[in-house]
Amino acid sequence: MALDPSTRAAHGGSARNLGDSSSAAIELGSFYLSQGDPTQLPYAYGRVGNPTWEALESALGEMENARATGFASGLAASFALMLALGKTHPRLVLASDCYYGTRKQAQMLAAHGIELISTDHGDFSAVENALAHGPAILWSESPTNPLLRVHDLRRLSALARVHGARFVVDNTTATAALQQPLDLGADAVVTSLTKATSGHSDVILGSVTTRDAAIHDSVREWRNYAGAIPGPFEAWIALRGLKTLPLRIEKQSSSATSLAAMLAAHPKVAAVHHPSIGARALAETQMRGGFGPLVSFEVKGGAPAADRAIAAAKIIRPGTSFGGVESSWERRARWAAETAPEGLIRLSVGIESLGDLEADLRSALAAG
Ligand SMILES: *Cc1c(COP(=O)(O)O)cnc(C)c1O
Repeated sequence: MALDPSTRAAHGGSARNLGDSSSAAIELGSFYLSQGDPTQLPYAYGRVGNPTWEALESALGEMENARATGFASGLAASFALMLALGKTHPRLVLASDCYYGTRKQAQMLAAHGIELISTDHGDFSAVENALAHGPAILWSESPTNPLLRVHDLRRLSALARVHGARFVVDNTTATAALQQPLDLGADAVVTSLTKATSGHSDVILGSVTTRDAAIHDSVREWRNYAGAIPGPFEAWIALRGLKTLPLRIEKQSSSATSLAAMLAAHPKVAAVHHPSIGARALAETQMRGGFGPLVSFEVKGGAPAADRAIAAAKIIRPGTSFGGVESSWERRARWAAETAPEGLIRLSVGIESLGDLEADLRSALAAG
């Protein structure tokens, strides 16, 4: 029976046997009692495997009809995946507008034998050119953080296939509830569960999902020996959040799309970046049920006006990260390594009433 992702999210990781707890247990042990051949029992040492991680991983895997591996953070997940794929595909063709932490990580790896080639993933001839010179990883992100550009994932996956490259998508901004890159041709997906997937701004965690057994095994080997494992408590928190992801993201997405339209018509706003504006037709071919919680926009008056607006809000919280149930925002260029325009505000839309958010946004912009 092909179940809807919302049903899979609600039931994933939960036992169905009589006598079992309805909620996964939080197993904190660093080791399991055993003697003799340690492979005879499912668990021996807590860095290698843990039932609470497995509950989260089975739920994440069910969402994408794939196998999932949990990590201590989104960047730990992408690091393991770059290393796993980089052994045979040592050229990383990275989207030039992807999350800056991923770009920084790739720059650091460039000193360790994985060549970094940064390209615009909207420029297919540049991508083809970059892929033509040897086995590569094509590493994309859509919608991108923070400019929310939509990249054509089917087209990029076709280019990767033609050139023998591995295709990876960072699906953090959309989540598995709205977009399934493995169905669009990706070999592996990276998600920072820290954001909308867990959704309550209380955990740092990441995952890799794939249908390729060799990638799965290699990523797990890197997790085990590089050691960036999830904590059992964090895994449990993320599993609890995942159950309501489809509900939350539906509300967040519809409010974000409404606020993007409101901002586009606002006299103090110079530009709005959102999949519904400009890239809607493409976004609708690869996303289902919404465009995610983020809207980015540039205010007239640049950084000082943006800072004043952020300080004036009563409901929308100041701070980085995104995807939580409470709306939050920040001026991205306050981070030194960020390349977004100085006055760009990235707004993460929560689950509050749309009317309350719209009123808060209007009064904050009036102060900007
Ligand atoms: C936050 C983020 C990451 C990194 O995740 P962490 O959990 O903070 O390590 C990776 N990719 C994108 C698109 C992100 O927004």
